[in-house]
Amino acid sequence: MNRDFKKGAGFIPYGRQWIDGKDIRAVVKVLKSDWITQGPKVEEFEKAIAKYCGVRYGVAVSSGTAALKASYIVAGIEPGDEVITIPLTFAATANMIVDCGGKPVFVDIQEDTLNIEPKEVEKKITKRTKAIAIVDFAGHPCDLDEIKKIARKHKLLVIEDASHALGSEYKGQRIGGITDLTIFSFHPVKAITCGEGGMILTNNRKFYERLKILRHHGIIKNLKKGGWYYKIEKPGYNFRITDFQCALGISQLKKLNKFIKRRREIVAQYNKVFKNIKEVITPKERSYVKSAWHIYWIRLKNPAKRRIVFDKLKKSGIGVQVHYIPLYLQPYYRKKFGYKKNNYPKVERYYQGAITLPLYPQMRDDDVKYVIKALKRSL
Ligand SMILES: *Cc1c(COP(=O)(O)O)cnc(C)c1O
Repeated sequence: MNRDFKKGAGFIPYGRQWIDGKDIRAVVKVLKSDWITQGPKVEEFEKAIAKYCGVRYGVAVSSGTAALKASYIVAGIEPGDEVITIPLTFAATANMIVDCGGKPVFVDIQEDTLNIEPKEVEKKITKRTKAIAIVDFAGHPCDLDEIKKIARKHKLLVIEDASHALGSEYKGQRIGGITDLTIFSFHPVKAITCGEGGMILTNNRKFYERLKILRHHGIIKNLKKGGWYYKIEKPGYNFRITDFQCALGISQLKKLNKFIKRRREIVAQYNKVFKNIKEVITPKERSYVKSAWHIYWIRLKNPAKRRIVFDKLKKSGIGVQVHYIPLYLQPYYRKKFGYKKNNYPKVERYYQGAITLPLYPQMRDDDVKYVIKALKRSL
């Protein structure tokens, strides 16, 4: 099956940004102003996202990874501490735990949502456990009530890596203010983009204040002691984001609901066809959530076919992916923490048959039909 992509057009990526003239004008306006970083757009963006998500405070940073690192620091993750998390995620979720000197203690998933299995969480709690770091996989919120209940019982903090879930809803409430610290990423494949960027949302004023200090080298100003005066009690980082990135974010946020609506339409088109194909398992949405659908994953029942199907789709000009190689299979995690193959049977079963199909708001109905046709043929 050839598409004109061989003539240089028509490749369908698994995800991509949608930047329009308004976005570009918003960025250019800031570039021509006096403040290209640490100006008024940072706070405007923080307030806009916080308001959209129904949360008190937002702190914008340079990436989702920086947002995770900053969250783990304010959560008090220190050398020797354990953080319960899932291995089916982008590396940064666990890497930043390790970066704080902590140990990621992995837990298996639920096979329908690919999220953390709350029943498995409690079994892994020890005296050293400080927090639970969850991921709303593909945009589908985790079992937040169950996780929060366990956290409350054992006095643990919940950090929610919601990089996939900006605009998702759990029991009628938008993701962002449900857990202690929620983080978003604004990488171009995510729901909205700043080029690079991230944000931490919280309802906790102390966390908010510490996050702002951490973002800027740990510097605490005290004007009473003089206009020049500042002190550093604990060294921080340069996790700052620029004003023109935030201008892009503000402009993008205005289109988020439209983006999500289109993502949901595409998912419905995929589901309608794939539910009748015996060889594939498709993602489901539970009745009490609304997913923002960051990615559309399928799982082949016969993992022996994954490689062939993947390669055939690639050859047809379709930018398939696999989200993700389980982290405990990575050499570092095996060596450092002793994780082994088959430690997490459900994660592995998913991974063996997993393929991510294209999904982004600018994808046309024709593109969706093409992907469906190519998948059917490849099977
Ligand atoms: C994208 C992503 C991140 C990292 O975000 P960056 O902005 O690329 O640093 C972290 N966790 C998950 C689950 C992600 O999808």
